[in-house]
Amino acid sequence: MRCTRALIYGENIRSNILEIKKLLNPSTKLCCAVKADGYGNSASIAAKIAVECGAEFLAIATVQEGIELQENGINANFILLSPCSPEEFTEVAAHNIIPVLFDEEMISTFDDVSKKFRKNKKHGVFLAIDTGMGRIGCLPEEASNLAKKINSSNNISLMGVITHFAVSDSISDENKEYTERQFKAFTSALNSIKSEGIDPGICSCSASAAAIANPEMQLDMIRPGIILYGYYPDEITQNYLESKGIHLNLRPAMQLETKIAAIRRFKAGESISYGRTWETTSETDIAVLPIGYADGLLRRLSPGLKVTINGKLYPVVGRICMDQCMVDIGINNHDVKRWDTAIIFGPKEGGALTDAADLAKMTSTIPYEIMTSITKRVPRILANA
Ligand SMILES: *Cc1c(COP(=O)(O)O)cnc(C)c1O
Repeated sequence: MRCTRALIYGENIRSNILEIKKLLNPSTKLCCAVKADGYGNSASIAAKIAVECGAEFLAIATVQEGIELQENGINANFILLSPCSPEEFTEVAAHNIIPVLFDEEMISTFDDVSKKFRKNKKHGVFLAIDTGMGRIGCLPEEASNLAKKINSSNNISLMGVITHFAVSDSISDENKEYTERQFKAFTSALNSIKSEGIDPGICSCSASAAAIANPEMQLDMIRPGIILYGYYPDEITQNYLESKGIHLNLRPAMQLETKIAAIRRFKAGESISYGRTWETTSETDIAVLPIGYADGLLRRLSPGLKVTINGKLYPVVGRICMDQCMVDIGINNHDVKRWDTAIIFGPKEGGALTDAADLAKMTSTIPYEIMTSITKRVPRILANA
């Protein structure tokens, strides 16, 4: 196996879920987002642990993601959060995946498709309302009519209603107020559905950020993603939560690591990598790592990226290549030898000196993107805690 790998500390995912459960109202259900291969952490590892920890639902973004998990023996209610094509509706129905619908065309198409697959029970669907995210969903004022249309269909029935917040990961007053407005729009749309005599079913608005920062918005179900994998959503940090009296101890699950494939001596004034953007200033040893941007080690991380080798940080120098990058370890460094492990990022309690949040900050992105960027050719290995 390649020495470039992503170790997945399943026990950290379990511990994160148990932390989240401590904050849950007793009747609130858990829908764990395992989309995008569990944010890069391996959907099958994450899904298995989530189900063991009592998650009633698993959230996926593509039909294929759901089918693969089912083929891996994961038995749960799968909610498909993103729209799929009419052709894919057949697979949604056949695999008993719960789609999220939001207009008349989708509702009648899925009702037609479900006819062939439904057994004695109608196929459950969720209705999405756009309360200000500007992505999927119906307008709040359309919700009751669409709910009516769903429940008067022959083959489908309303299982729940969801919305999604746009700025619940921000702590600015303006953004907190926006989230409040979205929440109000959602609850009043739910009331309009109820006033038609329709049971909206499982009502859910909170992903990670609101689930932990706005406990009053938990409703019937929360849909955490990033916190399962050990990272806080943007400005909702541990410090912010502590200041609100909320204690949550998250542990990153993924460690991206590789091994030093070669150590090569360079004289002063020699250039390293494409573009000759970096030159040695004195004689030094350069460690070559077999990891590059085709593994998801973003090219824009250099200059700046430092990797952990035997408990110390060393800089990546020159451009990150497709399959390799170079690290300046200094001359005659007795702490570093060939085939030693270099940690790109990982849980700090496990010895990594940088985590995915640090890498995200360096490149003005979020830990979500750092983790989901790790490509398929990097094997995910379940690590023993
Ligand atoms: C991805 C997603 C989530 C999970 O979001 P996190 O910020 O990772 O917790 C929840 N709900 C919807 C609709 C999503 O698309």
